[in-house]
Formats: sequence, C-alpha cells, structure tokens
Amino acid sequence: MSSLIKRTQIKDLGRGGMDRQQVVLHMNPGMGDNSYAHNSIIQKRVMREAKPIVEESMMRLYTIIPIHCFKVADLGCSSGPNALQLVSNVIDIVDCSSSNLNLKPPVFQFFLNDLFGNDFNSIFKSLPQFSEIIEEKKGQKCGGCFINATPGTFYKRLFPNNFSHFVHSSFSLHWLSQVPKELGNKKNIHLTSTSPPRMHKAYLAQFQKDFKLFLKLRSQELVSKGGMVLTLFGREETRDMRTAWSLFGITLNDMVLENLIEETKLESFNLPLYDPTIEEAKEVIEEEGCFTLQRLESVIMGWDGNINEGVDDKNKLDLNMRAEFITKQQRAALEPLLKAQFGENVMDELFVRFKNKVVELMEEKILEFPTLIISLIKKA
Ligand code: SAH
Repeated sequence: MSSLIKRTQIKDLGRGGMDRQQVVLHMNPGMGDNSYAHNSIIQKRVMREAKPIVEESMMRLYTIIPIHCFKVADLGCSSGPNALQLVSNVIDIVDCSSSNLNLKPPVFQFFLNDLFGNDFNSIFKSLPQFSEIIEEKKGQKCGGCFINATPGTFYKRLFPNNFSHFVHSSFSLHWLSQVPKELGNKKNIHLTSTSPPRMHKAYLAQFQKDFKLFLKLRSQELVSKGGMVLTLFGREETRDMRTAWSLFGITLNDMVLENLIEETKLESFNLPLYDPTIEEAKEVIEEEGCFTLQRLESVIMGWDGNINEGVDDKNKLDLNMRAEFITKQQRAALEPLLKAQFGENVMDELFVRFKNKVVELMEEKILEFPTLIISLIKKA
C-alpha cells in the first residue's frame, strides 16, 4: 500500500500539472553563490543582443502613438540584475528619442511579471538604489517611473484589454505551461537525438498550443499597433540534439545506475521546455494571426555565453573554469525543479558530474545554442 502511494506521488511531481509547475518553477532566489542573481550573465548577453531590436520597436511606437503614460510589461522577469535591465534600457531609449524629437518625456509604468514562486522581494529591495541611479542619470528629464509587480503565469490574462504599449519577454517563453502528457521518456529528461518521433510531436504540440495562447492573450492586452519583442531558446534542424538538457539526462541516468537516484524518479520526470526552430515559431505566429511579424532572427552563442570574448589572453577562462561557469548558470535556472524531483541531497553530486561531462564534451566540440529574437506588431 505504502509503495503504491509513493509511486502516485512521484508521478504527480514528474508530470507536474500547470498549477503545480507555477509554484515549483522559479530560478534560484536570493544573492548566494548559486543564485540566479549571480549566475545570469548569459541571459544578460541575450538582452544585449536584443537591445537594438527593442529600440527599433520602441522608436516606431513612440513616433506613431502619442503616449503620455508608457505602459511596458516584462514577462518572466526573474530576479537579480536582469529583472531591472529592461526598465533601464527602455528609459534610455525613450529619453534619447524624446530629446531628439524635442518631445516631453513620458511617464513610465513598468509591470514586472513572473510566476508566484519568483523572488520578487529581492527586486523590491533593490528598487531604492535603482531609482537613485535613474534619478542621478536622468534628473528632471525623466517624467516619472512607476514600477509594479504582476505575479502570475503568462499563459493566462495579466492585464485589462488595450492596456500595454510594449511587451518584452527575454529567455522565458521556452518554458512550457506543462510537460507534454504520456511521453514514456524513461531514460532522458528531454528530447535527444534518439527520442522517437512521437515524443518530438508531443513537445512540439505543447509548444504550439502554449505559444498560440500566449500570442492571443497578449494581443488582447496590447493597444492597437503595440509592440512586442520576445527572445527564447531556439533550435536548428540540422544541429545534433546535444543540449545541456540531454547532458543532464545522461548524468541522471549514470546516477540511477549507481543507485544514487531512484529509477522511478528519472522515469517520471521531463523538463517543461521547448526550443523551436525559426520555422516552427513563424508558423504559430502566422496561424494565430493577430500580429505582423517584424523580425525573426537567430543569434548563435556559446554555452558559456562567449564569456572569453574581448578578454585579453591572460584573463581568459580555461576549459575547466568555463565548464564551472556553464554549470553554475544551469544550476541557477534548473535546480528548483531538479531538487523538487530528485531531492536536495543529490544536487551537489549531480552538478559536479554535469560539469565533468561539459569538460569532456568541450574537448570534442564547440558547444553552441541559437536564441530566437522575435519582434511583432499588433495588427490595427
Ligand atoms: N527575463 C529574465 C529571466 C529569464 S529566466 C532574464 O532574461 O534574465 C526565465 C523566467 O521565466 C523565470 O524566472 C521563470 O520563472 C519565468 N517563467 C517561466 N514560465 C513562466 C510563466 N508561465 N509565466 C511567467 N513567468 C514564467
């Protein structure tokens, strides 16, 4: 009897309904060594890549719609320095363009959204210092900046009709609303090159359903001709399926073989993530129909976020340090989900083993991933 109960509990955790996921899924909170705040440089670099596209979208908006109070939403903001990066980028962009156009700068209202388990408190605590920096930089030029938190899933409505002018979401939309049902993916925790086609289909179908819903909801909330810039993990059809997620699958499987992790726990767990190709993303946007596609680009980056780029030789990180860096970034994002399934006591061991696998793989090949950057305009 007791083993039956145990199995059921494990199953529930593994499949994770939408509601459960909304509580378990979050990045590592706080300011500690493994926190997202200290391990989100790759995402910061993705935002830097997207900044010119955000600028293009904001400039277009600013010149076509007279806006007194600019309402901007950042969906999946997380915590740490990236959570306020968009706010500071937008203020810079609009401030610069209103000076050039000789217009009075608008008032800003920002809405920072993430799931309920997100560490919103650490964002709030950083606000006084952030406001001081903005005031110092902009002085009287800034019309006023009000920052709000909007907890909840972006797969449901977050704002009233015709409310926001600009929506941004960086590196969050690859998170699905739930793991696709009935995968039968026993030895892996995501898709790999050996996964059967029906598993690919199930993940793709969940992405299509989620992304379509996301677009529909945002189109209701955005004003006519409002703008949206999205970035998410992408995939190239020709690339082998070697993602960090498949490496975690291999590592967890080794740990099952050594009896460090229960087999049933691995069998019942899959990551609620999907990395679409450009074509897959485009198809959903066109089918949904509420947005005009302005841009859809793919940027390739190393697993280590090209950390050595522009660094002089004597300060470059060696292979071991790069693998350590990659592991910490992964840990900050995936640990809460992995901990809920496999237990806190195996986390250190799991990430040490993962790091060793990254070193081995980096000796063989260059590890890269594409990020999709999508710019959309709500149809009038
Ligand atoms: N935009 C930040 C954070 C990216 S991490 C940055 O660029 O650094 C991805 C974030 O998306 C996480 O904080 C996660 O909790 C959030 N997220 C995932 N699914 C979500 C959903 N359905 N609704 C709102 N936020 C979600």
